[in-house]
Amino acid sequence: ILDVSGLCKKYGNTDVLRGVNLQVREGELACIIGPSGSGKSTMLRCCNLLESPTSGNIIAASHELMNPEIDINRMRQDVGMVFQQFNLYPHLSALNNVTLALRKVQNKSKDEAQDIAMQALDQVGLKNKAMSKPGELSGGQQQRVAIARAVALKPRIILFDEPTSALDPELVDDVLNVMCDLRKRGMTMVVVTHEMAFAHAAADKVIFMDEGVVVESGTAADIFERPREGRTQAFLARYA
Ligand code: ATP
Ligand code: MG
Repeated sequence: ILDVSGLCKKYGNTDVLRGVNLQVREGELACIIGPSGSGKSTMLRCCNLLESPTSGNIIAASHELMNPEIDINRMRQDVGMVFQQFNLYPHLSALNNVTLALRKVQNKSKDEAQDIAMQALDQVGLKNKAMSKPGELSGGQQQRVAIARAVALKPRIILFDEPTSALDPELVDDVLNVMCDLRKRGMTMVVVTHEMAFAHAAADKVIFMDEGVVVESGTAADIFERPREGRTQAFLARYA
């Protein structure tokens, strides 16, 4: 469902991505790990064209991203994204943060948008907070609203960039549990994370990036229990 090949990205003369190859299949939870500055966010942002690749190919949810005629708005309905900083509208309730995109992007009626949004809030365990504004919610709850907003649009894949990095440690697990639930429901997810225990326990596939390339990828057991590459071993040793 996601196929990245030979992806390169330059900023000026700096090569940030130097030929990234990776595949994620339908229904998989893939975790991307690697040191700071290795290009994880840049890679993820190329996958819904928040950054434009310099060269290479990406097919995401059947959209050919390098095709100049691509309809970016339609593609982004199939390729959802959740950010580290939740990016909610502070003046809108949780419910209206979720309904806004449904109404603006998908032209749903008010009633239909509310039904879908309430279902999505229920999925992340926040039905009872529908009327609260972001400022009245904990960081973990705000991130769950952001996840509900992504889920409500019924994308075929959701990209997460360090969804728990901005959270107090005691709030991290609630968000990770919501992501595990989504996986059980068959959602395809690509998650950049520093939560090694989560990646080890929950990921179908783990991708280790360093210096703008995928150094090694495999099952969680392959990467965490028997990494083949020296750079992977050295990186993981810092978390042991
Ligand atoms: P982190 O774990 O700290 O989030 P990362 O793996 O997500 O790191 P990226 O944010 O993708 O790394 O950045 C990779 C490299 O690209 C870094 O060296 C960064 O300085 C550079 N970079 C990122 N965005 C830009 C930009 N807009 N202009 C110039 N350089 C950039
Ligand atoms: Mg990053």
